[in-house]
Amino acid sequence: MNRDDVGNDPLRLAKYPMHSSLSAGREYPESPHPYRGPFQRDRDRVVHSSAYRRLAHKTQVFTGEMGDYHRSRLTHTLEVASIARTVGRVLGLNEDLIEVLALMHDIGHPPFGHAGEDVLNECSQSCGGFNHNTHALRIVTLLENRYPDFPGLNLSKEVLSGQSTRIDQRMGATKLPLLEVQVVDAADSIAYDSHDADDALELGLLGVDDLLTLPLWQDAARSVQVRYTALDAEQLRRAMIHQLIETLVSDLINTTLHRLEDAAIGSPRDIAVHCETLVKPSAEFQEQKSELEAFLFERVYRHPTVLAERATASAALQEMFRRFTDQPERLPPASQGSLERDGVIRAVCDFLAGMTDRHALEVHRSYLNDQ
Ligand code: MG
Repeated sequence: MNRDDVGNDPLRLAKYPMHSSLSAGREYPESPHPYRGPFQRDRDRVVHSSAYRRLAHKTQVFTGEMGDYHRSRLTHTLEVASIARTVGRVLGLNEDLIEVLALMHDIGHPPFGHAGEDVLNECSQSCGGFNHNTHALRIVTLLENRYPDFPGLNLSKEVLSGQSTRIDQRMGATKLPLLEVQVVDAADSIAYDSHDADDALELGLLGVDDLLTLPLWQDAARSVQVRYTALDAEQLRRAMIHQLIETLVSDLINTTLHRLEDAAIGSPRDIAVHCETLVKPSAEFQEQKSELEAFLFERVYRHPTVLAERATASAALQEMFRRFTDQPERLPPASQGSLERDGVIRAVCDFLAGMTDRHALEVHRSYLNDQ
């Protein structure tokens, strides 16, 4: 078989996946479910959590005030899960594990995206700061309060360690995460590169001609124009986004298959000792992705409209942080309960991080009117 022909033999790499039957279990032991595997059960717990539902009204890059076409944190999450499952299926990995990792990967984000994260981090430096990956673990191990038998969601240890390795890698750890975790991280990158460009075009922050200065977009345009000759501007834009995702996903799959074969990985245990990430684009596409990301950083994430939204949101969150830490008695009853356990700063941080964008602005408005 041609090893570039990735769709024809999806199970040939079945020695790599993290098998559900080998799971190390949960912190609070539970009997097996009669018809759902452990990672299916984890996925369902994430989907039924309130932190997951709130992602619908949290900023990905553009706030809800800017329109209703662009991605929210929830639709971004679903796009990541969709891409990650496609990649995982072709590589013969554990799709249930991939799905739960994808669905929870951004569950720790506060309102207003990275602007909100930066504010909470600055304000909570005296008690360890704030990071969305760390907060995701806090949510699923402590803050979700849905089950009488345990705090949090009592997820499988592989799911928790998958989220932990994301934090460890930022701290410079060399131990590699499971392939399923690597797939989700690579899918996240493909999803935001493509949909941030699409959203910026829709919002009029960029024109297609701006993006056509980049080789990645030039190639996507060529591929689309070979197949279609009479597309209007909007059809062309959408076809180019589809092509971009298809190109990046195909490169990721083919390159990873080569890398796995060359690395002679025999089991999930072999992955941890490998010193280089195995699920990543080819050098050529990594360079082109980096160019696109640098372009998006300059032209989109630092666009005056985006920066103005970010400044308004940051000021509101900073003010709320200050006022609630000064008057913790005004925290809602659920947060009052954690004051003694966590201290004022962490309790306020958790309270604000759990808010949707809309709720944060409402609380800010009502708090100001109530002075
Ligand atoms: Mg993400």
